[in-house]
Amino acid sequence: MTTDATRVLVLNSGSSSLKYQLLDMNGGVRLAVGLVERIGEQASRLVHTPLAAGGEKREREERMADHDAALKAVADELSEDGLGLDSPELAAIGHRVVHGGLRFTEPTVIDEAVLKEIERLVPVAPLHNPANLTGIRTAQRLRPDLPQVAVFDTAFHSTMPEYAARYAIDVETADAHRVRRYGFHGTSHAYVSRETAKLLGKDPSEVNVIVLHLGNGASASAVAGGRCVDTSMGLTPLEGLVMGTRSGDIDPAVIFHLERNAGLSSDEIDELLNKKSGLIGLCGDNDMREIRRRIDEGDKRAALAFDIYIHRLRKYIGAYTAVLGRVDAVAFTAGVGENSAPVREAAVLGLEEMGLAVDARLNAERSGEARIISPDYARVAVAVVPTDEELEIANQTYALVSA
Ligand code: ADP
Repeated sequence: MTTDATRVLVLNSGSSSLKYQLLDMNGGVRLAVGLVERIGEQASRLVHTPLAAGGEKREREERMADHDAALKAVADELSEDGLGLDSPELAAIGHRVVHGGLRFTEPTVIDEAVLKEIERLVPVAPLHNPANLTGIRTAQRLRPDLPQVAVFDTAFHSTMPEYAARYAIDVETADAHRVRRYGFHGTSHAYVSRETAKLLGKDPSEVNVIVLHLGNGASASAVAGGRCVDTSMGLTPLEGLVMGTRSGDIDPAVIFHLERNAGLSSDEIDELLNKKSGLIGLCGDNDMREIRRRIDEGDKRAALAFDIYIHRLRKYIGAYTAVLGRVDAVAFTAGVGENSAPVREAAVLGLEEMGLAVDARLNAERSGEARIISPDYARVAVAVVPTDEELEIANQTYALVSA
C-alpha cells in the first residue's frame, strides 16, 4: 500500500443490486455514493452522486448483464470524477458480508480460504451470501492487487453468551446444522452503541445501551460495556421485532399448522413470513410514513398494525432492560428510528417507572445529528443516533489494511 492510499471503496452487493460508497479515510469524507439496480434485467439503472466534486446526481439506464458490468459502469462514473478505481490512492475495498457464522468475528482480509468459508455458510444465508460472494469476486477481477476486506453483519453479536445464542433444541441436531442465534445488522449496532456512548460523554466500556435499529428490517440489541450480550434476530433475520415485511417472532408451530392445514410448501411459508408479513401483511403498507398518514385519516387496519409493531418493540425494551440490569441509554436508529417521532413516543409511553420518557418538543425536532430526546429528570437517556454502516465498514477495513 502506498502511504498516500487513504481511500476505501465500500461495496454492498445484493442479488440484483450493488450499492457503493467511496470514502477518504483522511477525515472520513464521502467522495461518491451510488447504487446500481436491476442488474441482469433489460433496463439496469445506475444512480451516481459525486459528492467530492459537489457534483450533480447522474443516472444511466442501460442493460448491465451481471455484477462485472455493473462494477465496470461504476468504475467509469468514478473515473469521470477523477476518482478512478485504478488510482494509487485506493487502499482497499470493504465488502458487507451478511453471514460470518461462528468463524468470522472480526473484519477479515479475503483470500481463497475465506471465500470458501463464506460459501460454506450459504445454507444459513441463501439469499445474501451468494450475492456478497459475487460482489467480492467481481471486485477481485477489477483490482486483483488490492486488499479486499469482508466485514460481517453477524460479527458484533459473536460476544453473545452461549445461553443467549443457543435455541433450546436438541444440541446434536442444532450443532450438526449450525442452528443457533447469530444476529444481524451488527455493523449498525456496533456503530450506534459507540456513538451513543460518545453522546453521553462516556467510554463505550462504561455504558449499557439498548439499540433499536428500526429500518425496513428491524432488530434490537443489548450492549453491555461495548459488547453485545443479546440481539433479536437469530439464525436468520426473520426472528424478533415486527418488520416492514417480516413477521418477527411467531410460534414455530404456525409453520407446521400452515403446512398441514393450508397446504403451503416450506418455500411458500418462507416467502409468506419474510416478504408478505410484518407491517405489509398486517395493513398492506410497509412504509411508516404511509401508515401514520392512514392512521391520521382514521384507518383501523393501519392503527392495529402500528399497535402490534409497538407492542413487540416495548416487549424487547423490557426484556433487554432485564438482560442488562442497568440501562444507561436507549438509542433509536435507521429509517423509522431516526425519523418517526410517533414510534419513539409510543415505544416508551408510560415507562417512567423504568426510567424511560421522551420530551415531546425534543422528540418532534428534526435533525440529522445524534441527539438526546429524554427530559433531564429521566434516569435513562433516550437518544436518536443516525447509523452509518458504510462509514463503519470503511473504518474497519482501513484499520485492518493500514495497521
Ligand atoms: P433498510 O432496512 O432498507 O436499510 P432504512 O433504514 O432506510 O431501510 O428504513 C426504511 C424505512 O424507514 C421505510 O420503509 C420507512 O418505513 C421508514 N422511514 C423513512 N423515512 C421516514 C420518515 N420520514 N418517517 C417515518 N418513517 C420513515
